[in-house]
Amino acid sequence: MKTILPNQITHWCPSCNSHFQLRQVRHCIPVPTSPDGEEEILRCPACGSYSIEELQEVTHAK
Ligand SMILES: [Zn+2]
Repeated sequence: MKTILPNQITHWCPSCNSHFQLRQVRHCIPVPTSPDGEEEILRCPACGSYSIEELQEVTHAK
């Protein structure tokens, strides 16, 4: 079982070398062509980069 706390640092921006929580980098943008009308994207709140890396080694709990 994989448990990730919502306030855990799980994402990293290689552009400005900053670490963020998921809720800090997750944004919903309106996409008219999407069935839901919006799409979820990952974007750095510090530098605006879309190249957000997800940290895989944060939790090894099973
Ligand atoms: Zn950044």
